[in-house]
Amino acid sequence: MEYTALVREAFAARENAYAPYSGFLVGAALLAENGKVYRGCNVENAAFSPGSCAERTALYAAVAEGVRRFRAIAVVGAKQDAESFAFCFPCGVCRQALSEFCPPSFEVVVAKSETDFQVYRLDALLPYGFGGDSLK
Ligand SMILES: [Zn+2]
Repeated sequence: MEYTALVREAFAARENAYAPYSGFLVGAALLAENGKVYRGCNVENAAFSPGSCAERTALYAAVAEGVRRFRAIAVVGAKQDAESFAFCFPCGVCRQALSEFCPPSFEVVVAKSETDFQVYRLDALLPYGFGGDSLK
């Protein structure tokens, strides 16, 4: 799948974002190795800490279906009334969550539009991460 199409999926996912408190809407599209795309959006909560980011929403939806191998994720985010997008990177918690299932070469696509995006390896965004090997 071209990243342009994956970014388009992330923008579509953003349409369902539930962010009445921050007004910052985020969409994510996670491409699994089987070719399927899992959409996620941020889901806020009045108590704040129960909320979830778009990236983890997509990841856990995939894992709930038994899918555990992924190629890339596209992320888009901006205030609800924003006229343009800035690059929106996954937060530290999401980087850690992705590292549980994704290899260091997994690609994170941050986009301002379908044609204006940047690609980063996960290990560049989470150097020296904590993983299963850390527990041995
Ligand atoms: Zn996050």
